[in-house]
Amino acid sequence: MSSPYAAETRRRRTFAIISHPDAGKTTLTEKLLLFSGAIQIAGAVKGRKASRHATSDWMEIEKQRGISVASSVMQMSYREHVVNLLDTPGHKDFSEDTYRVLTAVDSALMVIDAANGVESQTRRLIEVCRQRDTPIITFVNKMDREVREPLDILDEVERELGMPCVPMTWPVGQGKSFGGIINLRTQAMTVFESGSERRPQDFETIPLADTDKLRARFGAEFDSALESMELATGASPEWDHEAFLAGKQTPVFFGSGVNNFGVMEVLDALVDLAPSPRARTSTTLVNRQPVVKEIQPEDKDFAGVVFKVQANMDANHRDRIAFVRIASGKYQPGMKLRVQRTAKELRPTSVVTFMSQRREAVEEAYAGDIVGFTTHGGVQLGDTLTDGASLQFTGLPFFAPEMFMTVVLKNPLRTKQLQQGLMQLGEEGAIQVFKPEAGGNMLLGAVGQLQFEVVQHRLNTEYDCDIRLEGCQYTGARWITADTPAELREFENAYPLRMARDAADTLAFLCTSPYDVRLAQERFPKIHFHPLREHA
Ligand code: GDP
Repeated sequence: MSSPYAAETRRRRTFAIISHPDAGKTTLTEKLLLFSGAIQIAGAVKGRKASRHATSDWMEIEKQRGISVASSVMQMSYREHVVNLLDTPGHKDFSEDTYRVLTAVDSALMVIDAANGVESQTRRLIEVCRQRDTPIITFVNKMDREVREPLDILDEVERELGMPCVPMTWPVGQGKSFGGIINLRTQAMTVFESGSERRPQDFETIPLADTDKLRARFGAEFDSALESMELATGASPEWDHEAFLAGKQTPVFFGSGVNNFGVMEVLDALVDLAPSPRARTSTTLVNRQPVVKEIQPEDKDFAGVVFKVQANMDANHRDRIAFVRIASGKYQPGMKLRVQRTAKELRPTSVVTFMSQRREAVEEAYAGDIVGFTTHGGVQLGDTLTDGASLQFTGLPFFAPEMFMTVVLKNPLRTKQLQQGLMQLGEEGAIQVFKPEAGGNMLLGAVGQLQFEVVQHRLNTEYDCDIRLEGCQYTGARWITADTPAELREFENAYPLRMARDAADTLAFLCTSPYDVRLAQERFPKIHFHPLREHA
């Protein structure tokens, strides 16, 4: 029997846009919004530029967090589809955040600067997509500049992605002699003109069959484009939609975001090629045993997962927005939802969807949509929300930190506030907080240095806690599990000073060198050491 929600979920597309800073992600995002009709004027999307420059700039931006909250999730309608776009932070120090965003999407749009090819930050993001077999659409940007040969770029993308590229459009020339793109599907060339005012339909198209006309206009560039296009298509496999959906093939588009060129092709690809929401894995307890269950998007019961928590703009109000990716069912205002971890009812003060720059009260939302619940607490990263069913989604990763600092509070009278602040920042995933079992100062664990600075700043401004961060001997951590409580106890007794609990109360072993783990593992072969914790 078909579900009443099937049609709604089928027309949804939820994707993340990924790139190395400066490749043109913000520009492309804006053009996608513009051409879908979600925004009327260019310049409405504020890039979070500062986040990759000095910390002080980041702090400034952080003060205006409203902007980044609103622009990190954007919904648009296009061709009877609902398209949810999730931005990913550019700075590598916030990569953990990005990984979690990637768990909330069904596909990714990768923007590459045609002069620079695949850059470091993109490489890390690709790894995560590969692990999850997330389908990737590739956009090679800045063809209006002097860039690399398209064959060369394809070759690099293939190597980096470890999957074949299938060109969907092909550039004629580049830089000053950029003539346009050939659409391999329609067998027509769209002629490039620079400028940011032009609408996609304003570009002239000429059928490839008009060879004489094209040759007369674009001369040798046209012939050499045909030649390289032939080489590229000869070397790449046939387009295979299933292979793309399985993360084994990427369609490649060329264009120039700032000139509105080649953008419509990408927007259409998101609708035509990218997947609608897919089943998500959860566990439920059956007779007290965890059982894996696939939740289908069109299932009638509501279920969603918190993949991001962000403190609200107004520091005087301790409310936070929990970003929830809906996995199944339908959300409607007034609905009673439960947080599975605590079995408590969630009482949001507001529930919004993110319409490009605006937030709007949700009227209804389905699988694939991102909904923001504003609450005063009670939600953590990785929490599962349902309207009754008892289940927990898996797969939201926390990485073992590689840098540690000890927190020293300057005014001991603020201890309570510090604890509250650290707990909340830990729940947000801004930093990982470890409380040593043996007592003593709290430890902060981060993947990137900037995280420490942000936390110090936020503790000061939002919780009025002036802290000093001091280096400590730890350089890593492993989450610990054992098959029996007795084994775990034995291990804890052997390393009383090395044990700590994180914000989710999960036990961790703190290490001072990689040998530590190896030695401990040799001594306790039955203990499991995890470099990655999934919300369980
Ligand atoms: P982000 O850091 O990836 O979000 O990159 P932005 O969208 O902010 O773009 C970085 C810079 O590249 C800006 O100065 C843009 O104007 C410029 N840019 C973006 N797309 C193009 C393009 O197609 N051609 C050229 N020449 N410049 C572009």
